[in-house]
Amino acid sequence: MSYCSSRFQTIRRRTSEVMIGSVGVGDAHPIRVQSMTTSDTQDVEATVRQSIALAEVGCEIVRITAPNHAAARALKDIRARLNADGFSQLPLVADIHFLPAAAMEAVEHVEKIRVNPGNYADKKKFATREYSDADYERELQRLHDAFSPLVKRCRELGRAMRIGTNHGSLSDRIMNRYGDTPLGMVESALEFLRIAESHDYRQIVLSMKASNPKVMIQAYRLLVERMAAENMHYPLHLGVTEAGDGEDGRIKSAIGIGSLLFDGLGDTIRVSLTEDSVYEIPVAQALARKAMARWGEAELADAQRGPVAEAIDPYHFTRRETASVSLGGTCAIGGEEPPRVLVRVPTLSAVAELAGTLTRNQLKDTPAEGIIVPVRSPEDLQSLRSLPVSAPAAFLVLDLDPAISPDQEEPLLSQSPHPLMLLRTFSARDGDALAAWGGLVKRGGAPHVLGLAATGTDLAILAPHLGSIGDERLVVTLAGAPQPPLHTIGAYRSLAAALASTGSRAPLWIRNTPATALDGDRSFLSRLLDASILTGSLLCDGLGDLVSIETEPDLGRAVKLSYNVLQGAGARISKTEFVACPSCGRTLFDLQSTTQRIREKTGHLKGVKIAIMGCIVNGPGEMADAHFGYVGGAPGKINLYVGKTCVQYNIPQAEADERLIALIREHGKWVDPEPQPVA
Ligand code: SF4
Repeated sequence: MSYCSSRFQTIRRRTSEVMIGSVGVGDAHPIRVQSMTTSDTQDVEATVRQSIALAEVGCEIVRITAPNHAAARALKDIRARLNADGFSQLPLVADIHFLPAAAMEAVEHVEKIRVNPGNYADKKKFATREYSDADYERELQRLHDAFSPLVKRCRELGRAMRIGTNHGSLSDRIMNRYGDTPLGMVESALEFLRIAESHDYRQIVLSMKASNPKVMIQAYRLLVERMAAENMHYPLHLGVTEAGDGEDGRIKSAIGIGSLLFDGLGDTIRVSLTEDSVYEIPVAQALARKAMARWGEAELADAQRGPVAEAIDPYHFTRRETASVSLGGTCAIGGEEPPRVLVRVPTLSAVAELAGTLTRNQLKDTPAEGIIVPVRSPEDLQSLRSLPVSAPAAFLVLDLDPAISPDQEEPLLSQSPHPLMLLRTFSARDGDALAAWGGLVKRGGAPHVLGLAATGTDLAILAPHLGSIGDERLVVTLAGAPQPPLHTIGAYRSLAAALASTGSRAPLWIRNTPATALDGDRSFLSRLLDASILTGSLLCDGLGDLVSIETEPDLGRAVKLSYNVLQGAGARISKTEFVACPSCGRTLFDLQSTTQRIREKTGHLKGVKIAIMGCIVNGPGEMADAHFGYVGGAPGKINLYVGKTCVQYNIPQAEADERLIALIREHGKWVDPEPQPVA
């Protein structure tokens, strides 16, 4: 893997140093946390106020949009006011789309310029045309002429620059040659990078943002691989764009940013939320802390290969092929089935008590499909008889204490009114026991789950035993925490590699437990981020057939969170997907309340993707693959889109929600929400 030093432990990628004013990014600097103001830039007072509020909660770099020349000029006053108020060390970044003139003005006043290579000096026409090599060269020369003045001025003034590619706003030139692919995103940035280097200018940070974490992860990996091949070592700014708000926004950001940070990539991060910007900072800080805590750990004996060498393509998504394990009836795990959701209960008797919690109306579309039950003694097994016939899930996973011998399992199977899976855990010392157990599994009976102790050595030693068990009745997971510096993501990757090396296609169960926490922080936010990073990064690599989040005290919430992480990783869709921009100085309506209102009205449309974007300048370009778009067209006016086509212009905002619903209905994607029971 040339994109990172290790996929099994966090070894920070070496980069050059970029100075944004007095704040260093990359090299030996910590991960810098940044955000963006949402006020009208020309409202100097409001923008200064927001910048200070961000700095006071720990934001280290503040970005401000400069949509036109007047806004770029206002940056001078904003900089002066911040200096006067004691914030001279807070670096400002001007966000530029389309207008080189705005960039040339802004560079005089702020420490860094962000350009979008998809639209700098380019008008996007969504035109399909064949570019001959000569046409393409002419385009690049035009770009060179348009971009060079800014590069030269940045070099003269000692300013930094971000070449910030967005998946949703690639130029027609790139789209026609590479499509909206991670490769297109990378090429888009490299075109600009080469122009900058031709002027011997290297104070550059790069980003590859997308609203789809899978695309974003692949694009960053590919960028690093391509840069390494050209001996380029620029720092990375990480972010998932248009992530939305609330839990979903945090989950998507944690999946995309967290996966890359744990691979050692990323030098500055922005968590984009459709909320007040100050709420982005604690999320970004927690993500940065989790990754930085792992820097500097002693290296694994073979960090690049890990405990078991992988053979995967990290630049293209392919779901790992697994056998389908049948649990009787229509329920199966692995194969073509979506990842299943499990929940852990504290005792066997709690299964009955939980029926209400787990089947209440809100969880109708997101049921717990399996329940993990600890079985501590042979006596516990007797209570299986007393389970209600209508358990709140399709199957039970009995987590068997080692004190229960395999002989005692047999009577269980006939006593349970429900399909069972039996979980046993082995470590390296248990080689013989594992072999004997494998023989028992092969003989038939209920499907079994093999829990492997997660230390690196155990995986390497136990791997040879896996192939002999067969995979029609076997699911595999990890137990406990891996020994540092191996991290849990790396341990699961090793486990998948160990299965592949023995020809086993047994489904893989991703368990989030207190032992797999990525650091010592057990707060609500931290638990959410941990579950998103571990589960999401594995799902984005095509790994995972069962998921359990066993760190949430509220079991209903544990189930919901599992489904939300699956949706964030694009692995299983259980509700409407919202793409909402974080808003900025261009925003034409209140994005937060509008997003919430539209979510309330359309949140039940499973599989429908709705974009809510603040302006038509960037909105349509950045809606990615949304089915419908609600985009600010003018003050008080909304444009509605089907895909990337605007179908209704300048609708009064008061009518826009209903017109959007009518549009969804017209395109056959509307269903009426189910009536809620009266409390
Ligand atoms: S789409 Fe949203 S964040 Fe992007 S420029 Fe427009 S208003 Fe700003």
